[in-house]
Amino acid sequence: MSDLTQLTLEAALAGLKSKDFSSVEITKAHIEACEKGAKLNAFITTDYDNALKSAEASDARLAKGEGGNLEGAPLGMKDLFCTENVRTTAGSKILGDFKPQYESTISAQMKSDGMVMLGKLNLDEFAMGSANETSHFGSVINPWKAEDGIDLVPGGSSGGSATAVAANMCLGATATDTGGSIRQPASFTGTTGIKPTYGRCSRWGVVAFASSLDQAGPITRTVKDAAIMLQSMAGYDVKDSTSLNVAVPDFAAACDNGVKGLRIGIPKEYTMDGMPAEIETLWQQGIKWLQDAGAEIVNVSLPHTKYALPAYYIVAPAEASSNLARYDGMRYGNRVDGENLYDTYERSRAEGFGEEVRRRIMIGTYVLSAGYYDAYYLQAQKVRTRIAEDFNAAWEKCDALLTPTCPSAAFAVGRKIDDPVTMYLNDIFTVTANLAGLPAMSVPVSLDKDGLPLGLQIIGRALDEETVFAASAALEKAANFTAKPKKWWA
Ligand code: GLN
Repeated sequence: MSDLTQLTLEAALAGLKSKDFSSVEITKAHIEACEKGAKLNAFITTDYDNALKSAEASDARLAKGEGGNLEGAPLGMKDLFCTENVRTTAGSKILGDFKPQYESTISAQMKSDGMVMLGKLNLDEFAMGSANETSHFGSVINPWKAEDGIDLVPGGSSGGSATAVAANMCLGATATDTGGSIRQPASFTGTTGIKPTYGRCSRWGVVAFASSLDQAGPITRTVKDAAIMLQSMAGYDVKDSTSLNVAVPDFAAACDNGVKGLRIGIPKEYTMDGMPAEIETLWQQGIKWLQDAGAEIVNVSLPHTKYALPAYYIVAPAEASSNLARYDGMRYGNRVDGENLYDTYERSRAEGFGEEVRRRIMIGTYVLSAGYYDAYYLQAQKVRTRIAEDFNAAWEKCDALLTPTCPSAAFAVGRKIDDPVTMYLNDIFTVTANLAGLPAMSVPVSLDKDGLPLGLQIIGRALDEETVFAASAALEKAANFTAKPKKWWA
């Protein structure tokens, strides 16, 4: 039998349905790939026994011609999603051996659609990072390497998800995106990822980072695969008051809509000093591809873009500091006993949180404190409104935007970790979609001069993932990106 780990999710689901192979067979093939890829450190927890049990159950359903949208497909779960009886760490020491007694809405929906869950994927601690270097469980290594062979970061915070998908250890993986954590790792690993509209997917049971920005989505190897996965992840949930009670369109069908007659906006502000010229060239190439496919190109301006990153790095830590207040060593997670209650809180939190998380808590409490609230937090909220208004003005002229996903390709492990501001600059083109709540997708389109993948981003109107999928699929088709990382890890 040919290597089942090389299939797309779409092809695997078709093969399972027509019984070309069983779920147990394709699951075993992926378990083997996960074991061989252990040095990439993509998984925090593997759950192979339960995966094989789920696969057997899927095979029984498939034999009867039954089964859901993901029936029998081995997938990975970012370790930010609570999974019943399976350790959930959020990449942090503070959660200790936390085994949730409940399932996140998203993972529950995917399970009822027949997913086979291989395990929980590594991430930056509490999803705070752009390189997957802040995880308590160690850095994830990008399967891609340049000529010099130095280990590269896979991006973050969904670095484990992106690596597992790029290295064919699963057919697709869940991820989350607060400021770019789906799209930036996708760009760094030659994979595809969509952050849907804020409210499209339920956040119930997803460990909170910054609640007004957090949104889940898939990382996959093709645009169609992302559409298939999102179909199972999306939907209204009474348990999340911010989830939107709207119908979920047929995302996979939207991939075939084409871009004829679509107006694609090019925001002139999406460039920065020091950005490699080849990213600019690639952007121009992307414009040409969409034009050739029948889209009309229009120039637009998003004048407040330059304030997005500072606003994000105030709003996100502010919300994080409040969300992380619950980790006090009392109800769950690690406790370090002290002299009295406060001392216990302090010791538990000082020991349990890593450096980046502590930094965010300090920034967050500072910008929310009396005297600084107006100067920082309130100001950032005003900027956020301006950014949303910029997009609204752009939508008068166009139906979607095309931009680079990131200002660089993957960088070396350790290169930016001691310089938070340089690290934060990575998110310059992705945070705007979170601040405005818009759907945005990264599509791998090319390799740079060092042989590393680069992505382009499509941003759409709120709740218009269909146009995002259509434009992304057109880009994917034109780019015909088929490069694969050399399998040095196996
Ligand atoms: N890199 C950004 C941060 O560190 C975004 C993280 C995310 O989207 N979860 O805040």
